[in-house]
Amino acid sequence: MKKILFASSEVHPLIKTGGLADVAGSLPRALAEISQDIRVILPNYSSLKKTEDVHFISSVRVNNQDANILETRLPDSNVIVWLADCPALFDSPGNPYVDETGNPWENIADRFALFSRIIVEVAMNRAHLDWQPNVVHCNDWQTGLVPALLSVESNTPSTVFTIHNMAYQGMFPESTFADLNLPRQLWHPNGLEYHEMLSFIKGGLAYADRITTVSPTYALEIQTPEYGYGLEGLLSHKYHILSGIINGMDLDQWNPEADTSISEPYSVKSLEKKAINKTSLQARSSLPVNKSVLVFGLISRLVEQKGVDLLIDCLPEMVEMPLQLVLLGSGDKSVEQKLMNFARLYPKKISVTIGYDESLAHQIEAGVDVFLMPSRFEPCGLNQMYSQRYGTIPIVRETGGLVDTIEDALPKSLANNTATGVSFKEASGGALLEAIKRTMLLYNDKKTWKKIQTTAMGKDFSWKNSAEQYLALYEEI
Ligand code: ADP
Repeated sequence: MKKILFASSEVHPLIKTGGLADVAGSLPRALAEISQDIRVILPNYSSLKKTEDVHFISSVRVNNQDANILETRLPDSNVIVWLADCPALFDSPGNPYVDETGNPWENIADRFALFSRIIVEVAMNRAHLDWQPNVVHCNDWQTGLVPALLSVESNTPSTVFTIHNMAYQGMFPESTFADLNLPRQLWHPNGLEYHEMLSFIKGGLAYADRITTVSPTYALEIQTPEYGYGLEGLLSHKYHILSGIINGMDLDQWNPEADTSISEPYSVKSLEKKAINKTSLQARSSLPVNKSVLVFGLISRLVEQKGVDLLIDCLPEMVEMPLQLVLLGSGDKSVEQKLMNFARLYPKKISVTIGYDESLAHQIEAGVDVFLMPSRFEPCGLNQMYSQRYGTIPIVRETGGLVDTIEDALPKSLANNTATGVSFKEASGGALLEAIKRTMLLYNDKKTWKKIQTTAMGKDFSWKNSAEQYLALYEEI
């Protein structure tokens, strides 16, 4: 049995801004289920949704600052969660990274440096918790200083650093290094320094015993300039300790057989009921109700990464085709505006909802035939997994986790029953449009379509699978 301290800046359902929270909420449970002693640590933000009992267990002093450790549990589990409590830094409204008005916290470096120092105290068993981990598993730049700070100690636990998105690195001016009172020996180009800037993520990449990312393909991609954001050299130098482990998905929350947000639950044995979800979605979206028309869906943050502009390039042609689109997302205002303009011009073809709506997200997954994910890069991606479980065929660009979780419907994969989606290579509207046309041909062949749906719905996207791979890694170090 391994003792693991799992450190993350967000943990679902306590607090979530993105995919990291899902991993931090699910992987520790899955590791506990395979009998590992795992504790989760995150900052005690004032906006945490605390449903379980929370109590004080100890106090620590780090870098001349007092902090407390509070203890709670992950809801409906025995997984212990420690909250790093420092009201002066974390007790303000907003999310982990931005304030109420959406601006990045001015003291964000102080916040996560302090969080990292508290993690180090717990990791070294100096926080009066009477527990020392064998492994500290850090996630993204917010915990990047942990492996660096542990490197100047002796008799330390091993460290794993997981990259959930290379695009976010925690970069600060050189002066921040001194302001944070970090050990001088960490300031060099093979340490925390990146072109005379302080890089938090480099703390993880340069000092952790193992580096992982959330899919095998993304682990290769980040070693290239296109995806490495300047750190491709360091990452390719570290290739021997770098690997990809695909995320699992929440099989209870995303289960078409027991989904309380959709009109008619269904399974692979009652796929005909999926059409009821389609017609309800059409009615709710003010689209013409027609169960045989091909319906495309998209649920996404509307940011450059997600390639929604490729879809916008295709829309003038798509509106001339026999299909409908149901889109849900929020983000870049100009993208929102363009999508809404199309919806206004073609109300019988396109429905657009701007906002974040979990219940609608479930209805889209259940109600559409095809799910669009034309991402420019995608470390892992979740929606393509949800789609397959819902018998909704994903169209994806061949990048990151999308490559590792989808089998393109080509003659060979169709013949050996492994096809689960449609993929395209080039990040262009033209390539996406070709994939859309190919999908329409597949849809017209009902037998083939059902075969793809059946294969997709039978795939194993459980966290157990991923947890076992992480455990093998912990055991290796
Ligand atoms: P990322 O973490 O890069 O945003 P993922 O595909 O890994 O992308 O995860 C996104 C998650 O957020 C999925 O669960 C998706 O359904 C959800 N999501 C994104 N945008 C919305 C939205 N507007 N409304 C509801 N859910 C959304």
